[in-house]
This record gives sequence, structure tokens and C-alpha cells, in this order.
Amino acid sequence: MKNELLILAPLPDFLMNPLLAANTCHDYFHAEDKAALLAQVGAKIRGIVMAGGSVVPVALLEQLPKLEIMSVFGVGYDGVPVDWCKAHQVRVTNTPDVLTEDVADTASALVLMTSRKLIAANRFLHEGTWLKGAFPLAHALHGKLAGIVGLGRIGKAIARRLEAHGMRVAYHGRTKQEVGWEYFESLTAMAQAVDFLVVACPGGAATKHLINAEVLAALGAKGTLINIARGSVVDEAALIVALQGGTIRGAGLDVFENEPQVPEALMQCGNAVLLPHLGSGTHETRAAMARLVVENLAAHFSGAALLTPVC
Ligand code: NAP
Repeated sequence: MKNELLILAPLPDFLMNPLLAANTCHDYFHAEDKAALLAQVGAKIRGIVMAGGSVVPVALLEQLPKLEIMSVFGVGYDGVPVDWCKAHQVRVTNTPDVLTEDVADTASALVLMTSRKLIAANRFLHEGTWLKGAFPLAHALHGKLAGIVGLGRIGKAIARRLEAHGMRVAYHGRTKQEVGWEYFESLTAMAQAVDFLVVACPGGAATKHLINAEVLAALGAKGTLINIARGSVVDEAALIVALQGGTIRGAGLDVFENEPQVPEALMQCGNAVLLPHLGSGTHETRAAMARLVVENLAAHFSGAALLTPVC
């Protein structure tokens, strides 16, 4: 008999097809009457599949008495109530490592695009403005200091890339690591010291608005904020004020507080480069992430060890 899964996010065919081959999938995300769907299938659901950005309320989980596993199509699991899952023996898996290099490429690209003003330069040429004169000078990367907030798998991959650009690297996190890069216990002190503040820590309650008006003021007019982590980590309203007033030089953002809604005021900031949460968005990486989702579920339902357990 196939296992019953609840699907909490829109998933690509290359993930849905193998899921459908081995399981019976119920599309909660697209269901018009979610309560009716839960009333119909809630009692037999054994697994949930969700995206990294999905948020699962405990109230929903409480309606799934046979739930055993939640498989996240992403490395960030800030939308999963992990303590509740531990207390109720519900396993959680995610997709670490396979997306690290792509997300680090995205961060590195944002550093280049903001410092060298590459997006504006592209527009400048397309609009024919080059015929009227040269593009204004931008800022060099080599010799500049980048401070990584959250030196984990992705943070380290970003650090390696920025070093290749001739930049110096420092980091902030809850713990000092055995690495060659300078550690700042104080985030504000690091923001004050760096030219680029690159956010790569997890989202969730513990890091909500970690980058606030005080940190942005410390980053100052010589500084650029890069965020490829989660929109929740940055106080977006404070960031807009800082960008509008020139408190900071610029921002490169792949993630936003209320995706896919991006405030009009942020879109109007000429000193911000904005991407539609595409950090891991390549064919190769998404396929590898999908394989991990499918293989974790298969391992669980066959009684084997999970490949990438969170808990
Ligand atoms: P990871 O290996 O677990 O690294 C997370 C790092 O954040 C750790 O070094 C941790 O160090 C640090 N950290 C945790 N809490 C912190 C806090 N309160 N303040 C400062 N640092 C803190 O995770 P990863 O694989 O690198 O992924 C990082 C995040 O990137 C994910 O959680 C996800 O939200 C985001 N992401 C975004 C995209 C995208 O498409 N834009 C794609 C994938 C992932 P300490 O424990 O020492 O604090």
C-alpha cells in the first residue's frame, strides 16, 4: 500500500513525479477547501513534503495523528516547529550541502553586481546612454573587508569566493570556529568594520531582525548589505529607510520578509539589486535536492537511516 503524503508547497514535476510513483499525494497547497481535505485524509497522512520557505503551523500538525516525517525541499527549516516534531517523534529532513555552491555563487554575484553597478551598467547600455558618455565609476572589491553573518556551509563557500576576489573575510556567529578568518563576537562591531555585510545564517525566531537599524547604522555609508539567508533576518522597513537616506551604500537581496511581495519603496531604491529568491535555482541543484527529498522519504518508510536528518 502506498504512503499518504500531504504536499504543502508547489513542487516541480521532477520532484512530484517520483513522489507520485511511490506515494499517494494530497495537494494541500492548491486545495481550495483545505479544511475539507484535512477532514478527508488527515487521519491517514504519514508524511509531509514542503519547501524551505513554507511555514507549518502546529495547529495543522495536530490534525495529522499518524504523521511520521516531514521532508523539506530546501536546507532552511525555519518554517518547521522542530521542538514539536521532537516531542511527537516526527522526523524532519532537509537538503543540505547540495545547494551550497549555487547559493554562494548568488551571494558572490550580488557582491559584484552591487559594487560594480553591473545591473545599472547593463541598463545604461541597453537604453543607449553610452552614446552620450561613459558609465560612472564604481567601487573595487580587492582589499575590501566582507563580514559573513553565519559562517556555516554556505557562509564558508561565500568566504572562499570573496577571497578569490582579493577581499578579506571576517565572520560573526554564536560560536568562534577553528578557521583562519577573524571572529567578531559583536555583530555591530563587525558591521562597523566591514565594507560588505553578508547574511548567511538561518531564519526563524532566533534571528528575526538580527540586522536592524542599529546594525545598518554601524555598517554606514561605506557599507553594502547582502542577504541570501531569509528575509526575516533583516528588518526590511529599517533597510528601506537606510537605503533611501544613504545611511548605507547599497543592498543585494535574494530574500524578502513577505515573499513574493516586495515593498514598492524597496523596488524604487536605485542602490538595491533585488533577485527573486533564486539562490539554489539551477536545474542541477534542484534535481539533487529533489533526489534527497525522495530518498529520505524512501529510507524512512523502509526503516533505513535517514540521509540528511534534522531530527
Ligand atoms: P548552516 O551550515 O547550518 O550554517 C548556519 C550558520 O549560521 C552557522 O555557522 C551558525 O553558526 C550560524 N548561526 C546560527 N544562528 C545564528 C545567529 N543567531 N546569529 C549568527 N549566526 C548564526 O546552514 P547553511 O547550509 O549554510 O544555510 C544557511 C541558511 O541559508 C539556511 O538556513 C537558509 O535559510 C539560507 N538559504 C538560502 C537560500 C536561497 O535560495 N537564498 C538557499 C539555501 C539556504 P553558530 O551556530 O556558531 O551561530
